[in-house]
Amino acid sequence: MSFTIHGLPVSSGIAIGRAHLVSHTSLEVSHYALPKHLVDEEVARLDAALHATREELTDLRTHRPQMAAAEFDAFLDLHLMILGDEHISHAAREMVKAEQCNAEWALKTQMDELVAQFEAFDDAYLRERKTDVIQVVERILKVLGGHPGHVPPTPQQDTEMVLVAHDVSPADLIQLKPHQFCAILTDLGGATSHTAIVARGLNTPCIVGLHHARELIKDRDMLIVDGGQGVVIVNPDKNLLAEYKLRQSEWQLERQKLKRLKTARANTLDGTVVDLMANIEMPTDVQQVKDNGANGVGLFRSEFLFLNRDELPDEEEQYQAYRAVLQGLKDKPVTIRTYDLGADKQLKGVTRVASNPALGLRAIRLCLAEPQLFRTQLRALLRASVYGNLKILVPMLSGASEINQTLQQIDLVKQELAAQNIPYREDVPIGGMIEIPAAALALGAFIKKLDFLSIGTNDLIQYTLAIDRTDEEVAHLYDPLHPAILGLLSHVIATANKAEIPVSVCGEMAGELIYTRLLLGIGLRQFSMHPAQLLGTKQRILTTSLPEIAPLVQRILRADDPLKIRELLDKLNTL
Ligand code: PEP
Ligand code: MG
Repeated sequence: MSFTIHGLPVSSGIAIGRAHLVSHTSLEVSHYALPKHLVDEEVARLDAALHATREELTDLRTHRPQMAAAEFDAFLDLHLMILGDEHISHAAREMVKAEQCNAEWALKTQMDELVAQFEAFDDAYLRERKTDVIQVVERILKVLGGHPGHVPPTPQQDTEMVLVAHDVSPADLIQLKPHQFCAILTDLGGATSHTAIVARGLNTPCIVGLHHARELIKDRDMLIVDGGQGVVIVNPDKNLLAEYKLRQSEWQLERQKLKRLKTARANTLDGTVVDLMANIEMPTDVQQVKDNGANGVGLFRSEFLFLNRDELPDEEEQYQAYRAVLQGLKDKPVTIRTYDLGADKQLKGVTRVASNPALGLRAIRLCLAEPQLFRTQLRALLRASVYGNLKILVPMLSGASEINQTLQQIDLVKQELAAQNIPYREDVPIGGMIEIPAAALALGAFIKKLDFLSIGTNDLIQYTLAIDRTDEEVAHLYDPLHPAILGLLSHVIATANKAEIPVSVCGEMAGELIYTRLLLGIGLRQFSMHPAQLLGTKQRILTTSLPEIAPLVQRILRADDPLKIRELLDKLNTL
């Protein structure tokens, strides 16, 4: 019987193949009390499992596929870091001793505590790191149970195989890679999960958040995976299969063609130059930035460096990370955003818990409330500035007072560095993110005091429409095409253009092809997006004529009926 399942599309493309189901480790572990004389033995058993797991991960690092080096190394480093985190290893060891319980129980208890802390994060990306914690603990539990590694037996490949799993860790993807799965489907995960990021990096169609795919799909079922739409068709009939085979070959051809655009300039048909930049989360993403021919980094979410840590990385560690990115990209611009952290319990000394974290002490508010934290990052950034073309971007600014305080802190740090004879670039541009409606509506101070603007549509939409971007219950109301959003976007872009201050969009909207022409028509000339979305966007730009799209874009901006707006947008995209 044929049926379809819907999930979250995270990596586009069409794949057709047979299902290969991967079993997942149950984290249900039993609890038993140990007699006192067996406690030391249990601690030794736990230590041996931790050691073996470390070896397993290190071994993976040595044998990972060359083509995916940067992404995978970063994930393995993160998993190794979690493995070494005292909340896992030390705390579990202490619990076995104190409570005389089995190692599995101690590990599971510590994991639950850590996961609860991650779940309290305001930031969706950080919240998803709980999956990494679970994956590492799963790995240790498998070793404790005498079944090291997650890798399923190699499927007999007489045809392409689609991996169907409850969840897959990025580390497992490394091992699965040689099996050449043509698509990845998981029950768990969100759009910013590591699995999604790796799959995107591998250019493998991927759908996450399918909930019950592993129950509904049987091993060797025929599957059509449409990664762009987030749709899986199980056991399609002959006609559907033929139709998707055609679509698949069209898509493959398209992908091949896109590669040729890597070095092409992103000009519209009428010769207007568009600047395409990349969003990155970690220094190792630099390779992808280069591979996709980005003009530089439009957004480096520096808070990634804080994942799963008790303390902030010190100045030296941050300096090394920023320097690596700047040197890796030579003279290309690298826009590093200062901490966009929320009420984060993991950070020592920053333990306030907000009743409404999205509206609480986050991002620049937190930095100004904790000047020492901020100054450490600013010192690291300015020290690194001599190694490339750095731009500093400040998130969540609401108006003049925060801008003034921020600039004051930057000046103080510069004076401090000068007094210590530490070199830095005096002319590092300072930019502000436009994410709060108040900022978008009262741009005066931003234009006067800052060097560039970057519109964070993810948050701007969240705050304008009063929709928690992380809450599934209201996800259907999250609408980039709402007239209020389009009005704010065109106001900010027109005001910045008139004042001749550079403005970009670095939220998800910038990388979604359906909005490329609309944004161009509104006047946007700089886009920043996930590197994998870059060449597709470039292609769309190359086939766009600004004079031709102008009348339709104006009609969209004047419309207030959602259906009419969609209809006009469709027209715009088929011109
Ligand atoms: C945004 O809000 O659009 C943005 C780019 O920042 P983040 O997604 O990291 O909040
Ligand atoms: Mg934001």
